[in-house]
Amino acid sequence: MAQTPIFKNSYFQQLPGFYTALAPTPLRGARLLYHSAELAGVLGLADELFDERHAALWCGEQLLPGMQPLAQVYSGHQFGAWAGQLGDGRGILLGEQQLADGRAMDWHLKGAGLTPYSRMGDGRAVLRSVVREFLASEALHYLGIGTTRALTIVTSDEPVWREKAEPGAMLLRVAPSHVRFGHFEHFYYRREAEKVRQLADYVIGRHWPQFAGLEERYPLWLTDVVERTARMIAQWQAVGFAHGVMNTDNMSILGITIDYGPFGFLDAYQPDYICNHTDHQGRYAFDNQPAVGLWNLHRLAQALSGLMSVSALEQALARYQPALMEAYGEEMRAKLGFTTRDRQDNDILTGLLGLMAREGSDYTQVFRLLSESEADNPRSPLRDEMKDLAGFDLWYQSYRRRLLQEGVDSDRRRQAMLAKNPNIILRNYLAQQAIDGAEQNDATFLASLHQALCRPFDDDPALNDFAAPPPEWGRHLEISCSS
Ligand code: AMP
Ligand code: MG
Repeated sequence: MAQTPIFKNSYFQQLPGFYTALAPTPLRGARLLYHSAELAGVLGLADELFDERHAALWCGEQLLPGMQPLAQVYSGHQFGAWAGQLGDGRGILLGEQQLADGRAMDWHLKGAGLTPYSRMGDGRAVLRSVVREFLASEALHYLGIGTTRALTIVTSDEPVWREKAEPGAMLLRVAPSHVRFGHFEHFYYRREAEKVRQLADYVIGRHWPQFAGLEERYPLWLTDVVERTARMIAQWQAVGFAHGVMNTDNMSILGITIDYGPFGFLDAYQPDYICNHTDHQGRYAFDNQPAVGLWNLHRLAQALSGLMSVSALEQALARYQPALMEAYGEEMRAKLGFTTRDRQDNDILTGLLGLMAREGSDYTQVFRLLSESEADNPRSPLRDEMKDLAGFDLWYQSYRRRLLQEGVDSDRRRQAMLAKNPNIILRNYLAQQAIDGAEQNDATFLASLHQALCRPFDDDPALNDFAAPPPEWGRHLEISCSS
């Protein structure tokens, strides 16, 4: 039954000194452009909250009973350098919704106006970036990857200046926590050791209650953060997702994806793909994400160095590589349709990736077509997509031999592979069409793309338009970083 949401605010109540209490600054002429009915259902929200009369709710003009809005303070390392205090420069935590199942969810309004942490920024977000974050976070969620989620998009008549005037917008983002690695770094570099401990105890109490009160709670917790981060990045690599700005202030302590900027899903397989055009060194290139994840965890460990011994920190960090390899191996074996492990698996995988890189094959479609290959049939539909037929045939022979060796029923394998290899990902050219519509106040394409992203593994021919690799115009879209 849908009811008025109930808010209790542990961050507000337990952590004075970790934020500034502050209400959002509403946008002029704000309209609710779109919302995720799926997420509204999960949160138990009544439909009428999303009609025109309630736009004031989603643009921060009206607060719900129990909300206690605040801007959190955090710092971070950006592109490898200590950047000092950063945020929340344009996000406001409205409150923590108490769900019927006992979980609590942060409601966080992005683009909510100036805060004491806005630095040179205007506290706003543009519609283009809000649409991209909405779609990407929903896409990752339905691909089974931990992420913040997105409830509403509000657009307005208020112009926001980036390279040019753009419509100002707001995103209501929902997650169990918005605490980042950078929160701990902030108090560590300010030499406020007690606050690092207080925040660690708060986070453990809320999200790792099984460790609360244990003497060994800090190493147990950090080890889990390390492993969760490793698993998340393994999942990104498996679906071909590049985050683009893995600064430590954009790393969630829960090991979920947060802060979508110039992200990109791979179209053609290109291991060193750089989606962020300001990333000249390729620090956040697709194939560098696993290494950067560990670098970021080292910064977190440094910030937590007052809470445990050096050897405990090292032991926790040492879990990263094995957890990542384990999770990535599992992901990729499932994508290849293997139900067991074998010594040849790595060679088969690298053989295919090498072929794809040389051919410039579409990463998503290759695994989809491979799913349609049958072990007892020497011809694969994937062959028709290849130019290097001899190279493909050689690879396919070893792949088929491996499948035959497992002896799994072809149809069952096919079903399992189609349930693992998505048909639909958020391609830049699709996001761009949703943005073009949204900027004309038309959410039709946005809505149908969102619906398709909620069913990424479906074969429904009605969804074909959302599965296609980019047309020529959509191949090299430059995604602006100013968001
Ligand atoms: P990002 O790398 O996009 O996550 O941004 C880094 C920090 O800059 C975040 O902590 C934001 O709060 C802040 N920021 C980004 N854009 C703005 C803006 N337009 N106004 C104020 N702060 C901003
Ligand atoms: Mg950020």
